Amino acid sequence: MRIPKHALCLWLALRGAHKTKDKLLAAGVLHSDLCAFNCGERESLEHLFFQCPFPASIWMEVLGKCNISRTSLLWSDEVQWMTGHTKGNRYPASLKKLAFAASVYDIWLERNRCCFKNSLLHSHEIVRKVGFDVAGKLINCKNIIKVKGIIVYVLIGAYRKRKQRAVSV
Ligand SMILES: [Zn+2]
Repeated sequence: MRIPKHALCLWLALRGAHKTKDKLLAAGVLHSDLCAFNCGERESLEHLFFQCPFPASIWMEVLGKCNISRTSLLWSDEVQWMTGHTKGNRYPASLKKLAFAASVYDIWLERNRCCFKNSLLHSHEIVRKVGFDVAGKLINCKNIIKVKGIIVYVLIGAYRKRKQRAVSV
């Protein structure tokens, strides 16, 4: 179970293929590699996912919604943790995989918004987007009846309400 645009973004991140500012500086494209989220550190893949305070706060909130209580890890450890805890396609492994890919996608999108549009969403708004995408995928899964997590039901409830609002407007 995956969302193609999220899976592609995660695939690029796993291969270190995103053009982060450290790479663009080294290539002579930029004059600065300061983090787009204004934390004062250098922007690299490892910094964005999830050492920078802003993405880290998003990721920790998403982890909390998946009933995972821990701090964010170094990127390589995060990937290793996810690989070890998301075997198979049944819930809750599917929830963790979807949430991980959606978080990487939405943080990268927000980084680009900062760089190119000079605007930034509140972290809660980004977490809500992640939840909406994950719920939207899970609700279309035929195994949804087997899903027991309260959080997922809450997310699906929000998803249905938003869809109903969109239809009634
Ligand atoms: Zn930063």
